[in-house]
Amino acid sequence: MSDVSIHNVIIIGSGPAGYTAGLYTARAMLEPLMFAGYMSGGQLMLTSDIENFPGYPEGIGGPEMMMQLREQAERFGLKVQDKNVERIDTSSQPYSVWVEGEEHKAHALIICTGAEAIWLGAEGEDEQKGRGISTCATCDGAFFRDEEIIVIGGGDSAMEEATFLTRFASKVTLIHRRDVFRASKVMVERAENHPKIEIRTFRQVKKWLSNEKGLSGAILEDPRDGNTEEISCTGAFIAIGHKPITSFLDGQIETDDSGYIIPKEHTMTSVAGVFAAGDVVDTRYRQAITAAGMGCQAAIDCERWLEENIH
Ligand code: NAP
Repeated sequence: MSDVSIHNVIIIGSGPAGYTAGLYTARAMLEPLMFAGYMSGGQLMLTSDIENFPGYPEGIGGPEMMMQLREQAERFGLKVQDKNVERIDTSSQPYSVWVEGEEHKAHALIICTGAEAIWLGAEGEDEQKGRGISTCATCDGAFFRDEEIIVIGGGDSAMEEATFLTRFASKVTLIHRRDVFRASKVMVERAENHPKIEIRTFRQVKKWLSNEKGLSGAILEDPRDGNTEEISCTGAFIAIGHKPITSFLDGQIETDDSGYIIPKEHTMTSVAGVFAAGDVVDTRYRQAITAAGMGCQAAIDCERWLEENIH
């Protein structure tokens, strides 16, 4: 017999989905335990201004909002540990969760691990990662004061990063592989109309260039005819999307080919008593507000499942 105490529910991952699931399960007296990850708060910790979360007419900083969500959930009893989950075992009840080699047990799990930035993988990228090349303007933008930088991507993230980086850079060139943008109209217009931003379409980074000081530029290729040209820059920000953080599940929960968890019954996954919410399952909306909404749904589904199956 193991002497590990059995929780009702362990929430894996933080961010708006995790904290909302924490708030609801805590208020339902389920005494939830959350492993928030070493970088708790998720992707919004890397976002400067959130302007589209209802209730904040002036907008709010991502880290500030995450702190508030956490505080609110903790007020009702959510216990949070800023640690990563290494693996889980859902082969028998109660389920096991390993954190820094220690086993924790729970009848139900809510997975809210979100997604992480995708890198381009162009030649020379690894050498400049975290130096001249970054995936987070909020984190690294200030290192490029009065320098020329490029941003790669055509979605909302790329528009947001380009606009944010104008605070520091002397010039921002946005590079996109097509001439159609996934980004919302308002975000594209904001970038297009900014005097410091130039948008270059039908361009892809073929190779990163560097000198003794670090990143010096890139070779760009036109995907239509393969023509190449050189652009100089000392900083580059890749904003081409994200991939879900699900490798720790080790195939126990059904995912699609890209690794996104497939919901089976409302927010419940292929394993009974394991729920998922937020960007780890959502390939369509991927907004803070939708993640928070799904966190609420997962908590309610979890509470009902525990009532019907465990207690
Ligand atoms: P996204 O919408 O999936 O856009 C990714 C962009 O990167 C696309 O333009 C794509 O080009 C390009 N891309 C992908 N792989 C590439 C490659 N290998 N080489 C070159 N370009 C590549 O991702 P996102 O911008 O990160 O946004 C994700 C979600 O978060 C969206 O739902 C978005 O609305 C949301 N978001 C919202 C806000 C906000 O409202 N404030 C801010 C950021 C993000 P193609 O179009 O050619 O495929």
